[in-house]
Amino acid sequence: MILDAIVTGLGAMGSAALYQLSRQTPNVAGIDQFDPPHTLGSTHGDTRITRQAIGEGLHFVPLTLRSYQIWRALEQLSGEELLTITGGLFVGQRDSSVRTRNKSGWLTTTIEAAERFGIDHRILDTETLRQEFPQFQFQPNEVGYYEQEAGFLKPERCIAVQLDQARKNGASVHTQERMVSFESTVDGVIVRTDKATYQTRKLILTTGSWITESLRNTPCADLLRVYRQVLYWFDIQGEYDQFTPDKLPIFILNDRGVYGFPAINGPEGGLKVATETFEHTTLPDDVNRTVSNLEIQKMYEQYVAPNFVGIGPSCVKSVVCLYTMTPNGDFIIDHYPNNPDVLLASACSGHGFKHSAAVGQILSDLALQGRTEFDIKPFQLTNFSSFTT
Ligand SMILES: Cc1cc2nc3c(=O)[nH]c(=O)nc-3n(C[C@H](O)[C@H](O)[C@H](O)COP(=O)(O)OP(=O)(O)OC[C@H]3O[C@@H](n4cnc5c(N)ncnc54)[C@H](O)[C@@H]3O)c2cc1C
Repeated sequence: MILDAIVTGLGAMGSAALYQLSRQTPNVAGIDQFDPPHTLGSTHGDTRITRQAIGEGLHFVPLTLRSYQIWRALEQLSGEELLTITGGLFVGQRDSSVRTRNKSGWLTTTIEAAERFGIDHRILDTETLRQEFPQFQFQPNEVGYYEQEAGFLKPERCIAVQLDQARKNGASVHTQERMVSFESTVDGVIVRTDKATYQTRKLILTTGSWITESLRNTPCADLLRVYRQVLYWFDIQGEYDQFTPDKLPIFILNDRGVYGFPAINGPEGGLKVATETFEHTTLPDDVNRTVSNLEIQKMYEQYVAPNFVGIGPSCVKSVVCLYTMTPNGDFIIDHYPNNPDVLLASACSGHGFKHSAAVGQILSDLALQGRTEFDIKPFQLTNFSSFTT
């Protein structure tokens, strides 16, 4: 039997793609080397920020807006809360020279996106920031952009719910099964795993940090870089009530390189904060998954102590996770080089989760209809031609 589509890699992007495919046809399958949701890729750690005015570029806004709709529809179907609105506080200097994912003007672009797309927001001066958010230490001349509808998603639950719905729609889900190769034929693609061989009209590769393996012998072999990241939960020593979602929004202190979430795991659960590090590249099967005491101490001294009030040095929990970066932080959503039957999405660059539901819809549309209503030109491989061989 020839399947209509196979999705290899059932993390954020793949579970979304399989769910969207299954709404059109039950003749689809998903394959993952582990048992998603799991803690070995890019989609774990309890929460992911979502926001609507996207400072990484206006071309992302339609993806996040569509994803909000899909998350809400999935909540209706599953009866589970996936998206929690907390508001979002994004802080920086207006004329900041800080480059975020190799682009300048993140806060300015955020404000521009909000104005262009009519996204509800307020601009706060330093004095107002200090009055409304006593949990932070603000610096003179910092401004805040506050977005009403920002919040967080539960990434593990989003994956689980989309895979459940895909199964209910008739898709087959093969876990603990690793794709080892694929090969084009006149009818589509033959996919070989460590357990079976499948024939499919279309193959979608959403293998996260492992995608570098599939691109090895293509002109894009050097395009993507994998970086180890750490998420930390630091002890709340101040009043716990000040850090819960009704008082503390999700936050990005962009110029200071810190982002985080309100506390959701009780007074002992800590405040989740993180920074981004791009010092050394790694590979998903080699990465050091242990967080050292030295790393924890450095994180506290450089990023927590100077920026918060009431957060202690003791680390309640820490988790290693992986970023797969393009050179400019944009996503790749395109056909595999020279292969119209294979699609791929590398939609990480550290900010992909909020867009993943819409990326799944795009991949499904491209696989089954050959086109999508979304403008995907900004995500095509040709945009990266100066970085490919
Ligand atoms: C620390 C951290 C914080 C982040 N914070 C945010 C945030 O706040 N907001 C936001 O929007 N985004 C955020 N992101 C980014 C977001 O989480 C990622 O964009 C997204 O999770 C990437 O999903 P993915 O599907 O590409 O990869 P994954 O979820 O890792 O999925 C890839 C899957 O492919 C499978 N696979 C790989 N190779 C094979 C094979 N050969 N055969 C079978 N299966 C295979 C793997 O097992 C895995 O399940 C963050 C990322 C990290 C690491």
